[in-house]
Amino acid sequence: MKSIEEIRADFPILSKKVYNKDLVYLDNGATTQKPVHVVNKIEEGYYNTNSNIHRGVHFLSQEATEAHENARKRVQRFLNANKSEEIIFTRGTTEAINLVVSSFGDKYLKEGDEVILSEMEHHANIVPWQMLRERKGIVIKVVPMNDKQELDMDAYKRLFTDKTKFVSITHVSNVLGTVNPVKEIVKIAHEHQVPVLIDGAQAVPHLKVDVQDLDADFYVFSGHKIYGPTGIGVLYGKENWLNAMPPYQGGGEMISHVSFDKTTYNELPYKFEAGTPDYIGSTALAAALDYVEEIGLDNIAKHEHELLEYATQELNKIPGMKIYGNAQDKSGVISFLVGKIHHYDMGMLLDKQGIAVRTGHHCAQPLMQALGIEGTVRASFGMYNTKEEVDKLIAGVKRVAMMFE
Ligand code: PMP
Repeated sequence: MKSIEEIRADFPILSKKVYNKDLVYLDNGATTQKPVHVVNKIEEGYYNTNSNIHRGVHFLSQEATEAHENARKRVQRFLNANKSEEIIFTRGTTEAINLVVSSFGDKYLKEGDEVILSEMEHHANIVPWQMLRERKGIVIKVVPMNDKQELDMDAYKRLFTDKTKFVSITHVSNVLGTVNPVKEIVKIAHEHQVPVLIDGAQAVPHLKVDVQDLDADFYVFSGHKIYGPTGIGVLYGKENWLNAMPPYQGGGEMISHVSFDKTTYNELPYKFEAGTPDYIGSTALAAALDYVEEIGLDNIAKHEHELLEYATQELNKIPGMKIYGNAQDKSGVISFLVGKIHHYDMGMLLDKQGIAVRTGHHCAQPLMQALGIEGTVRASFGMYNTKEEVDKLIAGVKRVAMMFE
């Protein structure tokens, strides 16, 4: 296994100086940095194999098509999907959720039907449902949290009625780090014959996901949060559902035959991939997954967990420290506030010390409302963060706290 020094050497940006200080990058929940393997793959794609895929008879087009389809198989293996046709490339988590909401919602949901979300959802898993509510009059129900910011599973069970038609819940909260019991969530929904979408944006970079074991009907994630490129993401869907659902966007590639009288649609996965796909991004995403699996998700999880435990223990020693998210099962994310210091001031003053954290509502305003705050400071860890960086964060937070004393 690679040492942490070797891993860090794979990410050139980590040796950057900001304000003449070593960059301490603790904003991995927003996006991760990219190893040379991924950037090289993008360069190689554009320099060596670039050609529009699927429709070409020539050598380059066939090579590019093969690379794109191999990337699909790579994602299939990564998620342990049953078939590569169940892997749809999208622009990211947001587009994948919008696809399901639009396509499934158009066909299967009608006025009065109920969809279950949770209090800790990212806006990407709230707003598309609200837009569907405006179009169709569906009802959104919300699973509350307990005082450790875990989902209240008894309340979840009580939300089901004979009108419940869909459950859409995050695997890991981007604000709290809470790892939700998604296997149980799916099992309970299936007892009511209700399909489930799991938002895996904050899960796949940190823990091993097996969609068949979870029995999720849909599972979505973004490339850029798992050391891959921006602009590419994944929708996994069970073949039966994807076959039954109508296309999301119309255009080239998603058709089988077009005439002005009637158009027939292509088979999976192409039915859901209108237009030229990001075939360079897909191959670079596959390189990112290779990289992650070479390091090993178990090793990554263990390392990030050590950082989380250490950071939590030390931050909690700071007077006025309040950490939001105290779940038993938690990933490497710490949201906090210190006394009355505004999250934005804390973020700016940490930045001046070279420490990159995120501040604000983290695209989870309903969660902020539930917590009774406007925002938090969030430090989120990746595979390349070190204990020394956590020490810098702690020293930085202490320094800011002293300035406000
Ligand atoms: N869901 C969760 C839990 C997220 O953390 C994010 C990104 N912050 C998203 C969805 C949206 O991802 P993207 O912007 O890559 O589509």
